[in-house]
Amino acid sequence: MTDIRELLLSRIRDVTDYPEPGVVFKDITPLLADPAAFSALTEALAEIATRQGATKVVGLEARGFILGAPVALRAGLGFIPVRKAGKLPGATLRQAYELEYGSAEIEVHAEDLTAADRVLVVDDVLATGGTAEASLQLIRRAGAGVAGVAVLMELGFLQGRARLGTALDGAPLEALLQV
Ligand code: AMP
Repeated sequence: MTDIRELLLSRIRDVTDYPEPGVVFKDITPLLADPAAFSALTEALAEIATRQGATKVVGLEARGFILGAPVALRAGLGFIPVRKAGKLPGATLRQAYELEYGSAEIEVHAEDLTAADRVLVVDDVLATGGTAEASLQLIRRAGAGVAGVAVLMELGFLQGRARLGTALDGAPLEALLQV
């Protein structure tokens, strides 16, 4: 596993002061461009989905789509997109959440999740945890259970893990890499 972590870390590019001053953006496009690294990443996340007994994978727009879809297929599970508000055509559940400046809203198709589901949320980076927290709230409001949250990288200094505590309600947060 150490080798996988080193491979993944070596394919993530730090872009300083993007998209605004003071932010170090974790750019995963070099990782996506390397089939060995991309495959190792989706295999590791799919192993989490299987181990946690997930029945569905939720991917968070937009990079959570790129990772979540192959993870779902590898684990033999359905993939559910959680999108920014106004993008899904059917009947949705909507959840607002606070950003550093202002707020945002995400949505899921209500019919995609049922009480029989245990859902794994997949994204590239856990920063403040606001997006993942709102997605867990959506999943619970849909009546589904939470298998956990799995991310490529957790930015520990932003305390996202603590923010997710209540919404996780004992379900695991697994990060392949910690910063
Ligand atoms: P969060 O603050 O945890 O709600 O992060 C929201 C979204 O922004 C996540 O889905 C990440 O993909 C993205 N994100 C936040 N901070 C970074 C960062 N430093 N580098 C790359 N992506 C980030």
